[in-house]
Amino acid sequence: MKADALVIGGGILGCAAAWHLARRGVQVVVIERESAAGHGSTARSTAIVRQRYTHPAAMALALEGLRTWERWGDLVPADENGRRAALVKAGVLFLLPRGEASTETLARAMRSVGIAVERLDRDSLARSFPALAFDEREPVEGLFEPEGGYVDDPTRATEDVARAAVAAGATFRYETRLVSVLTEWENGSLAVRGVRTHLGETIESPVVVNCAGPHSGWVNLLAHSPLRLTTAPLKQVVLSGHSPGLRSLPGRLPVIADLIHGFYLRPDPERTRIGAVWQRDETEFIADPDLADDHPVDPAILTSRLAAARRRLPGLEVLVASPLVGVYDVTVQDWYPIVDRTATRGYFVAVGTSGAWFKAGPMIGQLAAEMVTASLAGRDTDREPLEVTLPLTGYRFPMTLFSRVRAPIELSYGGGVLG
Ligand SMILES: Cc1cc2nc3c(=O)[nH]c(=O)nc-3n(C[C@H](O)[C@H](O)[C@H](O)COP(=O)(O)OP(=O)(O)OC[C@H]3O[C@@H](n4cnc5c(N)ncnc54)[C@H](O)[C@@H]3O)c2cc1C
Repeated sequence: MKADALVIGGGILGCAAAWHLARRGVQVVVIERESAAGHGSTARSTAIVRQRYTHPAAMALALEGLRTWERWGDLVPADENGRRAALVKAGVLFLLPRGEASTETLARAMRSVGIAVERLDRDSLARSFPALAFDEREPVEGLFEPEGGYVDDPTRATEDVARAAVAAGATFRYETRLVSVLTEWENGSLAVRGVRTHLGETIESPVVVNCAGPHSGWVNLLAHSPLRLTTAPLKQVVLSGHSPGLRSLPGRLPVIADLIHGFYLRPDPERTRIGAVWQRDETEFIADPDLADDHPVDPAILTSRLAAARRRLPGLEVLVASPLVGVYDVTVQDWYPIVDRTATRGYFVAVGTSGAWFKAGPMIGQLAAEMVTASLAGRDTDREPLEVTLPLTGYRFPMTLFSRVRAPIELSYGGGVLG
């Protein structure tokens, strides 16, 4: 089999990269080891759509993601039952220690790229969100994104993108596992030639795009392309269950990211999620993403998640609460994605989404397609970096932010991770 471009992985990034390559007339093949699109780490995503990031360009990309989900019905075809994923605009409320200088700095930066954000003091919080409990003298303040929310659900959204990619001419090969990346020396430099699958088949292609999620670091080694910034799998446990009682709580209940009590809540009565908002230095990488589910989860993790959420939301009852294990694909040095060419000609990466970029996955796939197209047209994107105009917001996104050779990005306001 031959292709103009081969994408490894049918998660949200791989499907979106394939879609945008196919739209440009590239004969693209996606190989995915699962039996359908969106069954890798994307399937476990909480899919929260927030815009509070530390870097203005990342805020702008998150906003582009929000605008994309708002228009989802116009962008992708529905399935045979007329269904697609949808954005639930619950709003996203960050609860923060009062008076930190970074809150105003971030709010200003968010507004400067067009994000709707409100700062709320303790009294306004209590008035606006009557279901939440605030101690009378708690030094708390809120940063509220009224337009944010979560996508219901990420697997369906990925299937939507795969359907759009197929309609644009892409081919998907499911239950097909990559076992090696073929490379060859050519005029003193390494060039990619294609891949070999577990079926013993060779797929020849002058372009290979690594969208393998938590397996991305391993795939880079197969491609003889270890990067200076490295990606590695990181296990995450969230509490999953349902909470019909959320429907009868007073007032509006947004997605909550409580940086004081250290939890986040997706307030979906059918698919409630409670995760931890934690710092980068509390992380534990794992050797093999396929073994993440192997060890039983310590029940104390679930108890403490629930206890943290109940301190803020005393009425919360989660039925059939069980642990859900997911794996992040983390850029170890700075937790920002890498979307770039590599030193191996024809070999590209769209990796390192670090547990935080489902929200802009469709756009990040498009950025990868832009990178591939520019390189194929002969542009040396290292010397002449790309700037991509994000289609819905018009923001000029500098691809240097996602460069494989960037200096690690400083997270000036701490590295707490929340979707
Ligand atoms: C628990 C959890 C919660 C999250 N919450 C949020 C959130 O609230 N908001 C947010 O924006 N983001 C969130 N994220 C992050 C977001 O879900 C990811 O950034 C995104 O889904 C990654 O997509 P991907 O396509 O890169 O990876 P994946 O979906 O993992 O896709 C990679 C694909 O490659 C395939 N693959 C791997 N190896 C091979 C091989 N050898 N051969 C063939 N196929 C292969 C896999 O099967 C997989 O389908 C969360 C992630 C997790 C795990």
